[in-house]
Amino acid sequence: RKRVKKDVVESPYVAPICESGIVSELDGDTISYFIKMVTLNLEKGQWELGSIRSTSGEEASVSLSNGNVLKVARSEILPANPDILEGADDLIKLAYLNEPSVLYNLRFRYSRDMIYSKAGPILIALNPFKDIQINGNDYVSTYNQRFVDSPNVYGMIEAAYNQMMGDEVNQSIIISGESGSGKTETAKIAMQYLAALGNGSCGRANDVLQTNCILEAFGNAKTSVNDNSSRFGKFIEILFSTTGKICGAKIQTYLLEKSRVVQLTSGERSYHVFYQLCAGSSSGLKERLNLRAACDYKYLNQSNCMAIGGIDDAKNFHQLMKAFNAVWICKEDQELIFKMLAAILWLGNISFEVTDSENHVEVVGDEAVTSAALLMGCSSQELMTALSTHKIQSDKDTVAKSLTLLQAIEARDAIAKFIYSSLFEWLVQQINKSLEVGEKHTQKSICILDIYGFQSFQKNKFEQFCINYANERLQQHFNRHLFKLEQEDCESDGIDCTVLDFEDNQECLDLFEKKPLGLLSLLDEESNLAEASDLTFANKLRNHLNANHCFKGEGGRAFSVRHYMGEVLYDTNGFLQNNRDTLSSNSIQLLSSCNCELLKLFSEVFNQSEEHANSTFHVGAQYLQKRGVGTKFKDQLFKLMNQLESTTPYFIHCIKPNTKKLPGIYDNELVLQQLRCCGVLEAVRISRAGYPTRMNHQEFSRRYKFLLLESDVPRDPLSISVAVLQKFNVPSEMYQVGYSKIYLRAGQIDALEDKRKQL
Ligand code: ATP
Ligand code: MG
Repeated sequence: RKRVKKDVVESPYVAPICESGIVSELDGDTISYFIKMVTLNLEKGQWELGSIRSTSGEEASVSLSNGNVLKVARSEILPANPDILEGADDLIKLAYLNEPSVLYNLRFRYSRDMIYSKAGPILIALNPFKDIQINGNDYVSTYNQRFVDSPNVYGMIEAAYNQMMGDEVNQSIIISGESGSGKTETAKIAMQYLAALGNGSCGRANDVLQTNCILEAFGNAKTSVNDNSSRFGKFIEILFSTTGKICGAKIQTYLLEKSRVVQLTSGERSYHVFYQLCAGSSSGLKERLNLRAACDYKYLNQSNCMAIGGIDDAKNFHQLMKAFNAVWICKEDQELIFKMLAAILWLGNISFEVTDSENHVEVVGDEAVTSAALLMGCSSQELMTALSTHKIQSDKDTVAKSLTLLQAIEARDAIAKFIYSSLFEWLVQQINKSLEVGEKHTQKSICILDIYGFQSFQKNKFEQFCINYANERLQQHFNRHLFKLEQEDCESDGIDCTVLDFEDNQECLDLFEKKPLGLLSLLDEESNLAEASDLTFANKLRNHLNANHCFKGEGGRAFSVRHYMGEVLYDTNGFLQNNRDTLSSNSIQLLSSCNCELLKLFSEVFNQSEEHANSTFHVGAQYLQKRGVGTKFKDQLFKLMNQLESTTPYFIHCIKPNTKKLPGIYDNELVLQQLRCCGVLEAVRISRAGYPTRMNHQEFSRRYKFLLLESDVPRDPLSISVAVLQKFNVPSEMYQVGYSKIYLRAGQIDALEDKRKQL
C-alpha cells in the first residue's frame, strides 16, 4: 500500500490521460490502480464511487462504498483519481479528467469550504452562500497541510499587483459566470484587497470602493435567481500612482436593462434605489418630492414584491448618500437625482382614458400628472399632450393626432426608461469625473470586468443576443491568450510546440460582425426600414447568412447560432424595437423644453448622439442609416477588447452550486452544466497537453541550483537548469529547454518543489 502511494506521488502526472473514454483494460494489472476506485453511472444519472470486483465480457461486477454489489456495463464505468489526488487544487493535476472526477473533486473541496480551485489558468470560484474566513486558522483544514496554499482571489490579485508594479504591465481580472454565481461579490473582494494593497495616506482607495454602493443601488435589482442581480455590465479600471497607491478609477458600463424600470416579472423588483428612496428619505425630502410609500407606485407594486429578506432599504439609502459624498456629488445634484427618480415613479402612475371606439385616449388629469410635471419642470398640459398625441407633418402644417391606448402607454414608458438610463449614464460620468487622474500622474492600472456570462434559455431575446455576442468575443480573447500567445512564445524561444487543436470561434464572430452581411449590420439595415418587421428580419437573415456554418435558419421568426458554448435559439420578436430604441420627437421636444437642468442635458446628449450617428454612418446614397443598440454595443466591445489586449489577463469563473441560494448544497448537474458552458474543461485539457509551467533560466536556476552539489554547478543559468533536470531524472518528455525559458509539463514543478522542501 505504501509503495503504491509513493509511486503515485511521483507519477500522477504521467498517468494515461483519459478524458471521458471508456476504460478498456479494466483487468489489466499495470493500470489497475487508476481504476481501483470507479465511478458508476447509476440510474438517476448520479455517479458514485466504487471498486471493481471482477469483469466478464462487457460487464463488470462492482461494489459500492455502501457495500452493495452490482453488475454494470463497462461503458458505465469511468476511472476515478487515486486518493492522493483527492481534492487537488488544480484540475490540471487530475490524472483523469472525466466529468464525474472533476465534479467529485470540486465537491470534495466545496464541502471543506475550499471554494476556490484552479483549472489551468482559470480560477474557479464556487459560491459559498455564506461568509468564509479565508485567512483564519479554520481555513487550514485539519485534512491536509497542502491546502494552506490553496488558490484564492487574494493570491491572484497579489500576483497581478506585483506584476503591475514590477513589469509595468497593466493587468486585467476578467470575471464570468451565470447570474447569482458570485461575480459581483468576487469583484468586490478583489477591489477590497486591492484597496488594502494600494491604500496610501493621500490615496482614494476608499472612495473607489464607495462606487460599488452607488452602482449597485442604481444598477442592481432582485430577480428570481439573485436578490442583488447586476442588470448591467461593468468594467472598472483602478488607477495607481507610481508608488502603487490607488489614486483614481475609470468606470465603463454596458447594456443597462431599461425595461425593468417599467415592467417587472412577478416576484422581482425594480432597481434598489427606488425602494431605498421611498424608505429612507427624510420627511423634508419626501415633501419636496411629493413622495409616497413604494407600494403606492405602479412601477414598483406590479410584481407583488416590495422587500428583500435581510435587506434594510432605509439603511442602504443612508449608505448611498454617504457614497455620493465620497465621490463629490453635491447636495444640489443629489436633490436633482432624487427628483428624477420621483418623476419616474409618478410617470408610472399616469393613466389613460379611452375616448372613442378606435381606442384613442386622453390622459387622466390626476395627481400623478401634476406631480410628474412639477418634478420634470413642465406644465401638466404639456406633459398630457406629449403622452397622448403625436404630430403628423402634412403639406403645410403639423396636425396633432391622438394616440391609441397602447401607443400612449408605450410613450409614457419610453420617457421613464429614457430618464432612468440617462440618469445612470450621467451618474457614471460624474463618478468618473470625481475619480479622474491626470495623465501624467499614472501609467499603472488593474481593471476588473464583471459582465454577464453566456446565456441560453428556451427562448432567447435581443438581450441574450448581445450578451452571448460579448461572451463570444471574450472567449476569443481567452483562447488567444491561452493558445496563440503561448505558442508564439514557444516559437520565439526556439522550442518545438505541437500545434494544439482548439476550436477557433472566428467564424461565429464573423457571423455577428461582417459588413454588410452579418447579424448586426443586417439588423441595423432592417431597423432603418419603416415597413420592416421581426419576421422580415428573420427572412433576411435566412436569405443572406446561410453560408456561415454558425448560422441556422429556423421557421418563422426564429434563428439559431452555433456559439462556442453551444447552439442557441433566438426569437427575433422585439429585436427591431430593442435595436432602434427611439424616443418620439414629441417626447424629445418635451424633455428639452423642461425647466430641469438634467432633462435638458439628457435630451441634448441624445440629440447629439443621433446627429453623430446620422452624419457618420450612411449606407448608399439614398438614405442615412442609423446605428442601433447592437452596433453601438459592438463599438463599446471593441474598445473594451482593445484595452484588454494591452493587459495581462487573469480569469475567474464563478459557479453557482445550487439554485436555492443556500450554503452546503452542491448540485452535480447544475455545476456540470456551468463547467461545460464556460469551456473550463476544454481549457484544462489543452493546458495540460502543453507546458503550463514556464520559468526563465535565471529564475529557475536561482531557485533550484542549491539542489546540485557545489562542484557540479555550471556557470550559465541555462546549463544549471539542464543539470537540475538531469539530476532529478525528470523524464525528457516532461520538459523542453528554450533559449530564454524552461518549459515544464503540468505537475513537474510541484515535484521539484517537494524536493526543495525536503532538503
Ligand atoms: P448577477 O449576474 O445576477 O449579477 P453575480 O454573479 O454578480 O450575479 P453575486 O451578486 O455576486 O452574483 O452573488 C449572489 C449572491 O451570492 C450574493 O448576494 C451573496 O449572497 C452570495 N455570494 C456570492 N459570492 C459570495 C462569496 N464569495 N461569499 C459569500 N457569499 C457570496
Ligand atoms: Mg452581479
